[in-house]
Amino acid sequence: MARLWFRSALLPDGWAEGVALEIRDGRIATVTRAVPAAAGDETGGIAIPGLPNLHSHAFQRGMAGLAERRGTSRDSFWTWREVMYRFVDRMDPDDAEAVAAQAYVEMLEAGFTRVGEFHYLHHDPAGTPYADPAEMAARLAAAAGETGIGLTLLPVFYAHGGFGPIRGAGPQPPSPGQRRFVSDRDGFAALMAGSRRAVAGLPDAVIGIAPHSLRAATPAEIAALLPLAEGGPVHIHVAEQVREVEECRAATGARPVEHLLDHAPVDARWCLIHATHISETETRRLARSGAVAGLCPITEANLGDGLFPLPAFAREGGRFGIGSDSNVLVSAAEELRLLEYGQRLAARLRNVVTSPHSLSTGRALVEGCLAGGSQALGMAGGLAPGAPADIITLDPDHPALAARSGDAWLDGWIFAARETAVESVWRAGRRVVAQGRHLRRDAVAARFRATLARLAA
Ligand code: ZN
Repeated sequence: MARLWFRSALLPDGWAEGVALEIRDGRIATVTRAVPAAAGDETGGIAIPGLPNLHSHAFQRGMAGLAERRGTSRDSFWTWREVMYRFVDRMDPDDAEAVAAQAYVEMLEAGFTRVGEFHYLHHDPAGTPYADPAEMAARLAAAAGETGIGLTLLPVFYAHGGFGPIRGAGPQPPSPGQRRFVSDRDGFAALMAGSRRAVAGLPDAVIGIAPHSLRAATPAEIAALLPLAEGGPVHIHVAEQVREVEECRAATGARPVEHLLDHAPVDARWCLIHATHISETETRRLARSGAVAGLCPITEANLGDGLFPLPAFAREGGRFGIGSDSNVLVSAAEELRLLEYGQRLAARLRNVVTSPHSLSTGRALVEGCLAGGSQALGMAGGLAPGAPADIITLDPDHPALAARSGDAWLDGWIFAARETAVESVWRAGRRVVAQGRHLRRDAVAARFRATLARLAA
């Protein structure tokens, strides 16, 4: 049994001083307040819970920055997607593992301790399943194992290329660019079984399922898939783009979130990624379903998606979390900052995201995303007995945190720190980041650079 001691720690009921955590099998066994550090303790300054990153496509870290050049037509999500399809064409399993490891190192250094990997790059470049149909899932598990990040693996079911053009006409076939993603039901069942084997060696992995979107999976197919989740989380992309809303309405007569809520048993196990373009009625219904809204502020800004109506959703009791999605930039603090700033710009107000426990916006952002993200990833969060010992410490000497205390540390980290103020990160009780650097940063980065050089050649 290991013991960690922190000068200050954010516990579920607020800040406490002199906090000792006993760790057993990677989980917090006991929390004791107002005690001195003991000989042999690992110690730190300001401890807060590790944050869940509820939505990632790790391989996309390899194309970060490559889609920022104007094309010949009006650029949009859809032209970005073509760049992504071309990039993905060349990646083999070694490449995918190297890129994922880099993404996971960056996540841990940023303060994300668990990732929801919405995993759809399944097959070889010709679109043929690998000998092990879960080969690519195994590579994500290997990257998680190497870096130590907690993994909630969400294998994606992808069957169609889009909504039918006319109501009742049936979905469109997948495009050639989608050949590495596509499964039938039996193929997907094999992928799920392989994915369970792939993560069996990780300490506390979770498996869920992810019907890619209503563009790629029909409600009938989603219903047939649900038993394969075996009670795990269910994630789906929905209503990210206005065109998607229009196509869904033309094909089904309903908006995407409305269509999903009408035809799938959406509840607290579900996480709807983006849900950007939703009506007032959909906002209310989604909040009341208990599902989490998976918001990805950096990616949504990068892709020009739009803005989720967070204040209205929160007023109805809606739960939300953050995801790094395309991984164009991996930063927990910046996701939280942009989540709040987007709403400020839209509402022309300040301090929009609020907490029942504090007037601090930083506290509200951290606690909101911790609760929603933990729910969405199927794993307890927070510094409490039974939760994984996933802990980050902030650097009390960082200029943005100087002469602050309590919630003002969170506000300083999120709104005022130019460089990350994350000092150390423990994952499942093991320190993987010290002085801001992941222990395997250099080796992982060297492999990542070699991989990108080969892919660009
Ligand atoms: Zn996504």
